[in-house]
Amino acid sequence: MRYHIWTEGCQMNEADSEKLAAGLAKLGWEPAPKADAADLAVVNTCVVRQKAEDRAVGYMWHLRKLKESREGMQIAVMGCLVGPRTEELRKRFPFVDVWARPQSFDVVIRHLMPANDLGGEFWPDTFPEPGGPTAFVPIVHGCNKFCTYCIVPYRRGREKSRTIADVRREVTSLASRGVREVTLLGQTVEAYGKDLPEIAGSSRRPDLADLFESLSALPELQRIRFLTSYPRDMTDRIIRSVAGEPKVCEHFNIPVQAGDNEVLARMRRGYEIEEFLDCVGRIREHAPQASLSTDVIVGFCGETEAQFGRTMDVLARVRFDKVHVAAYSPRPGTIAWRNLDDDLPQEEKMRRLHAVETLQERIATEINAALLHTTQEVLVEGEKDGTFTGRSRANKLVHFRAEPPVAIGDLVDVRIAKTTPWSLQGERVRAGATAVV
Ligand code: SF4
Repeated sequence: MRYHIWTEGCQMNEADSEKLAAGLAKLGWEPAPKADAADLAVVNTCVVRQKAEDRAVGYMWHLRKLKESREGMQIAVMGCLVGPRTEELRKRFPFVDVWARPQSFDVVIRHLMPANDLGGEFWPDTFPEPGGPTAFVPIVHGCNKFCTYCIVPYRRGREKSRTIADVRREVTSLASRGVREVTLLGQTVEAYGKDLPEIAGSSRRPDLADLFESLSALPELQRIRFLTSYPRDMTDRIIRSVAGEPKVCEHFNIPVQAGDNEVLARMRRGYEIEEFLDCVGRIREHAPQASLSTDVIVGFCGETEAQFGRTMDVLARVRFDKVHVAAYSPRPGTIAWRNLDDDLPQEEKMRRLHAVETLQERIATEINAALLHTTQEVLVEGEKDGTFTGRSRANKLVHFRAEPPVAIGDLVDVRIAKTTPWSLQGERVRAGATAVV
């Protein structure tokens, strides 16, 4: 029997698809390159943007046609499209055989093999075959924040953390099969542990720092990253842990979204810009070597020129290493879509987006230029035509030349000879040579 999985969306969905594939492999199923050669076609959906949802729905209708011509073919739909009200979906798409909510990929397996006892919610025994030296590991699912523009809390539910033991079991398994770096995932990753029981003998619940400590003890694991940060959940304890645990990479992806308090309030981000800047200040105080990236939405409902100017001021003041910028587009089902007026013309949104990009290109050029002639620790992730690629601890993309032996998964020192806003280039420092940082 053969399966095909079509995946849209974030690293969480990628991780779920990999786990489902691993589970199917355990049942003896094999992957098919396309749905038209599959007995089971799985659609792993994302609904963060309307376009992503439209693509998934279009693909589902395409599968319906295939199913009509392929006897016995089954269709499974999982991910964020599958919210709490599955009944509506069943009526709208009666040709779908099984629906599975986010992180419930085991429902698909149970549908195929209902008699099997396949384990608990996170199904810890079904870990994916790693595709290289890095892997994503979801540690907290869902979100409690309800930003007005975002659909995630409605589809992925409230924050729910895995236990430290459960995460550690998965990371141990990955590390034993060649993974050297894990990225711990959560919509607001510092919320990790808030819903877990208190640690025995203490009045404290486990947090991200505890998880870092536990995973750092795994000898084969070299690096730990984490995504995505949220300023209100960022404690000094977590920042100090990032600075103090040698295996935790000093990089924070901490979305600001806007630099103006009225816009932040309309977004219901839950903080004012002063609080965000305080959080950045605490990171820079305790972890001065850390790099910072952020997300920005321009052209949100009612954003004036002056309010946009305050976002530009924040970007110029903080000087992020990287900025992911998006022009606002309303997402049906969200509070902003229901209650706020999407009143900026598309051309104006794009003008603001390009202004952010131009500013950020200059800042990234300057930040990366300061890395010229330094030596960076790089985890080797790929090789093409004699050029190796990997990431520095600060999450900078690094291309470098090296004499063998260099293998995927090695940690090597690279002397930086050239920089651009987007990447660094250099040459491996030969073993025995003095590293200059
Ligand atoms: S913090 Fe806001 S933007 Fe991020 S997932 Fe939660 S609701 Fe969405």
